[in-house]
Amino acid sequence: MVSSQKAKKVAADAVEFLEVLDTAGVIVDADNQVVNQSPKAKDMGLVEYEKVISPELVEIMNQARQTNQSVTLELFFSKNIRSPKLYVSARATRLSEELVILLVEDRTEAKRLDETRRDFVENISHELKTPISAISLLSEALQVAIEDPEQVKKFAKNLQRESKRLGSLVTKIIQLSRIQAGDLQGEIEVFDLGLIVDEAIELNQFLADSKGVGISSDTAKEILVQGDAGLLSMALKNLIENAVLYSDAGSNVGVGLAEVNDFAEVTVTDKGIGIPLDQQERIFERFYRVDPSRSRETGGTGLGLSIVKHAANNHGGEVTVFSRPNLGSTFTLRIPTYHVADNQKETQ
Ligand code: ADP
Repeated sequence: MVSSQKAKKVAADAVEFLEVLDTAGVIVDADNQVVNQSPKAKDMGLVEYEKVISPELVEIMNQARQTNQSVTLELFFSKNIRSPKLYVSARATRLSEELVILLVEDRTEAKRLDETRRDFVENISHELKTPISAISLLSEALQVAIEDPEQVKKFAKNLQRESKRLGSLVTKIIQLSRIQAGDLQGEIEVFDLGLIVDEAIELNQFLADSKGVGISSDTAKEILVQGDAGLLSMALKNLIENAVLYSDAGSNVGVGLAEVNDFAEVTVTDKGIGIPLDQQERIFERFYRVDPSRSRETGGTGLGLSIVKHAANNHGGEVTVFSRPNLGSTFTLRIPTYHVADNQKETQ
């Protein structure tokens, strides 16, 4: 009796500890009956009728009891078939002769990030291989055609296009991995978004002129925002660049700026090829292109919109699209405006 009271005291102390640790924890007695559990363990649904519901977890608790050593296991867990499957890391440790503590950590998000990272690296390798092998083939072709000036001209032009593509790909990969790591490149400052929009238009002017596409803008108003001006400039440059690239000669791209309900909205509208409805969500994924061969022709990387999306998210905003095939597209980047009161809130 005394020993069981002592055991309960140990269990209660341990659960107090668990609550501070913010971990799901369960303590069981010699019959694997749950003596105590932390709130996180309740949320996760580890226990039902005073038993740990997963046979694999019961097994590691038994092993820990028998061997007096910590036993760890990573596994998928869900409290029932309708609940989401979690990827968890569990550790069972003997606390006393009777008691075993089971700590379970939800690693679902970490695993998802790991997988995303792995996919990203695989995609990068694949994407880099295309221009690299094109450059290699073209340089071989140049050697063979050395006597034929017309052919040399043609291959040299293609070589230039592929190396430009490679350069743009590498730059965008670096930008994207920096943004994804939450590492905003520049300083956080308060600035007039109108000036950044004008700068992004300017950066695309040469491209637009050479494609015979006009850019008109309505940005002559001061709208203050807070964030990384360099990152937003890059995002807006990508949106305008796409609008130009996916438009035909003689067409016009419109860039607008407005303040709507404490948000600054930049809209980029084109009358170009448009995007099929069922692909409009996917275009923000890395390396996703509606028509890979057209995108390749325009020197696309499939990374531009992914950068825009991350830049918007990092500023507490979003990017949306409205588009109809053959009619055109409007992309809207929306981020919170800055008010002097925001600054006072921060310094208080
Ligand atoms: P890319 O470098 O290939 O343009 P993005 O990530 O910028 O990559 O865009 C992804 C895809 O979305 C493009 O390949 C293209 O199919 C589509 N897209 C983006 N912007 C437009 C637009 N303004 N009009 C039509 N399609 C677009």
